[in-house]
Amino acid sequence: MTKNIALLAGDGIGPEIVAEAVKVIHCLQQEFGFDTELEAAAIGGAGYDQSGKPLPDETLALCERADAVLFGAIGGPQYDELERGLRPEKGLLNLRSSLSLFSNLRPAILYPQLADASSLKPDLVAGLDIMIVRELTGGIYFGQPRGIRKLANGERQGFNTLVYAEHEIERIARSAFDIAMLRDRKLCSVDKANVLEVSELWREVLNRVAGEYPDVEISHMYVDNASMQLVRAPKQFDVIVTTNLFGDILSDTAAMLTGSIGMLPSASLDENGKGLYEPVHGSAPDIAGKGLANPLATILSVAMMLRYSLQQPNLAEQIESAVGNVLDQGLRTADIAGTAQSASTSEMGDAVVTALRALAR
Ligand code: NAD
Repeated sequence: MTKNIALLAGDGIGPEIVAEAVKVIHCLQQEFGFDTELEAAAIGGAGYDQSGKPLPDETLALCERADAVLFGAIGGPQYDELERGLRPEKGLLNLRSSLSLFSNLRPAILYPQLADASSLKPDLVAGLDIMIVRELTGGIYFGQPRGIRKLANGERQGFNTLVYAEHEIERIARSAFDIAMLRDRKLCSVDKANVLEVSELWREVLNRVAGEYPDVEISHMYVDNASMQLVRAPKQFDVIVTTNLFGDILSDTAAMLTGSIGMLPSASLDENGKGLYEPVHGSAPDIAGKGLANPLATILSVAMMLRYSLQQPNLAEQIESAVGNVLDQGLRTADIAGTAQSASTSEMGDAVVTALRALAR
């Protein structure tokens, strides 16, 4: 059955990197018989320029119809003075909440060829492959009540509420177990159950759902220890599942273990596995239009899309192998080149397509 992919290139380097990902999708169509239709729409600053809204109605309608969404990046200094509700970032936040994307997947993958890019010793991180599953629509970022109030003595007090209902924990747990089943079947749940009642419930529900996944080995770790283990011995982890706040912090730490922001894809999934796929980085206005952007995070986002939303794990592996082969050849964009000579955005995209073609034959 034909799969429909919505393409939201956005701002800054967004159009450049999405163009390279589209070359890869076209190659999958031509060489591997991948049956898909692509339709593009504006979002972020481009959406505002086109229709006065960062998430135009027709863009949302397209994403609702699509099987998956490929997203570039949004934002730019020309939009910084707009009122908050019209800023590019609001377009992405609205899209995530309109599509109920509660499960955020942030892999930290370090291709062995790039081990020197990490701030950790190469042997600690070479071949690193962790998936952090972060709950994205609940927890302390959304809990009510919240605010800043005045106490009887006149002093001001800030307050937020950390709250998770059982059904919210259950669905992120299932999402994480499903992902663990597609990987090495090891799931570590990160919480603060020694201090927080919410975490006690989180742990209890995780253990209950674990009963449905006898093939997955479940473990629990306090968040302070997890942050330490991530920089001490990160390769001990396969899949980590955690709350919105803890995941926000741990996923950035894990991403930085790899030292290369231009290499990291991500996904946000709904309850049925429909997802939005995007590079972790932003719109990089400092290098936009110069052919310097690394398109690999976006190309690897397509691989995630094939694995997690489009049930094409073999094609996902082909893309990942093609990227590995290109890195083996020594090709590097400026962000990962070090002192070596660097390839342009389109040279990198073309090289992945050539490597993919070679795998097809
Ligand atoms: P950024 O990720 O855009 O850039 C940080 C640094 O990394 C810059 O030096 C940039 O040149 C470099 N970089 C980023 N992606 C790269 C790539 N693919 N190849 C090579 N180098 C790359 O973060 P920022 O500078 O803090 O933000 C710039 C704009 O992006 C802001 O408007 C911000 O709001 C927006 N932003 C958007 C998203 C998103 O679309 N999801 C995420 C973060 C930031």
